[in-house]
Amino acid sequence: MANSRFEYVKGFEKADNLLPETYIVIRIDGKGFHKFTEKHEFAKPNDSRCLELMNKAAEIVVSEFTDIVLAYGDSDEYSFVWCKGTQLYERRESKLVSHVCSLFTSAFVFNWSKFFDIPLRSLPSFDGRAVLYPSFSSLRDYLSWRQADCHINNLYNTTFWALRLQGKMSNREAEERLKGTVSADKHEILFSQFGINYNNEPEMYKKGTIFTRKPADGDDMLSKGTNLSKKQKKKLVIEKLHVDLIADSFWKERPYLET
Ligand code: ATP
Ligand code: ATP
Ligand code: MG
Ligand code: MG
Ligand code: MG
Ligand code: MG
Repeated sequence: MANSRFEYVKGFEKADNLLPETYIVIRIDGKGFHKFTEKHEFAKPNDSRCLELMNKAAEIVVSEFTDIVLAYGDSDEYSFVWCKGTQLYERRESKLVSHVCSLFTSAFVFNWSKFFDIPLRSLPSFDGRAVLYPSFSSLRDYLSWRQADCHINNLYNTTFWALRLQGKMSNREAEERLKGTVSADKHEILFSQFGINYNNEPEMYKKGTIFTRKPADGDDMLSKGTNLSKKQKKKLVIEKLHVDLIADSFWKERPYLET
């Protein structure tokens, strides 16, 4: 029975339940972080304080939503991968995306002062989207795409800022120098001109950050395809990694992620 004659307007809301039996990925990305990094005098090309603050906010999101099986982040973005069978909020897209976005943002602001000595000078916000992947292989390709992007950007940015800061080049000169170069050329510039071996750069910069859940030591309840109860999921331990997820080995070591 209707509570009031106004209640019919509820019918104007649209159903947005995401397709069942698909992997939901929610990716958030900082709004205008190019400007934000300047305003807060970030170290270039990588300010580890902000990367660790992003990681902290992501860990809070992962802890809150036990149906998230993996999160991957670099720069000002994070992707959260949900188990195929999640029924949270009846898989309603707007509920899932808006909760992830707002919890991530409030965790970022709440923890700011643990990582930065200066106060916030503007209000950070993050956009969010949900993308569905119909198979485990397309999900893996998605994550490989993000990690490859992290690697390509970081190699470019590391070389660019070496040319700028140590090589005393202007923005334009550095851009000109890098035009048309391939990966090997950038390694060579870094090594021969600046004595930097790219391979020795921090793993967090080169590979980004991964959070996954794993069984506690000695607990083998998680084999591929196992459906875990909420209580069992709570018992999983969250691990933080900076490793390659493109090759098969990452996934072979963690068969329980394919659920
Ligand atoms: P949009 O609102 O479209 O996302 P944006 O300015 O945030 O615009 P992005 O494509 O998301 O653009 O790029 C993020 C920018 O923030 C890049 O310039 C990147 O180098 C910078 N950035 C993000 N995190 C860091 C960090 N930890 N240290 C230094 N720079 C960073
Ligand atoms: P959901 O996550 O589904 O939204 P909820 O607990 O937030 O669950 P709502 O239907 O949004 O449920 O109702 C909000 C609740 O918060 C109500 O119980 C309301 O009385 C209470 N509440 C909200 N604002 C205030 C306020 N300013 N003072 C006292 N109570 C408040
Ligand atoms: Mg962008
Ligand atoms: Mg951005
Ligand atoms: Mg970005
Ligand atoms: Mg409410």
